[in-house]
Amino acid sequence: MNADIITNTTYPHGTVEGFQEGCNTAHCPADVSCKTVFTRFNGDYAFRRQINAGMTPAEIVAAEQEQAQEAAQADLRAKRARPGVRAGASQGRHHRLPRSSPRKSPGHDQLRGMREHRAHHP
Ligand SMILES: [Zn+2]
Repeated sequence: MNADIITNTTYPHGTVEGFQEGCNTAHCPADVSCKTVFTRFNGDYAFRRQINAGMTPAEIVAAEQEQAQEAAQADLRAKRARPGVRAGASQGRHHRLPRSSPRKSPGHDQLRGMREHRAHHP
């Protein structure tokens, strides 16, 4: 591995070119690493289309996170609005991003508890 690539500020990090020129480790300094960009560019049509449209990988990832958050919030609202509904064809099958399961992430109360716990034990 060439360490100069990692520290070179003019290197095109966060691009397919960056990966092809040799930045193919997890040490990439870009917000979205060259490796991730390369992998997604070749395996994710939507990602490739957005790159070709002029978006940067960081913009695409930020937009995806926003969408996932909105989807999770909409899901939460839907559950609160229909507290009695448990089964149904329309439930839980509409996630555009299957990786972001709201069920797996800890609730706000749990997060707060963890933070307080950490504060007591620095
Ligand atoms: Zn890189």
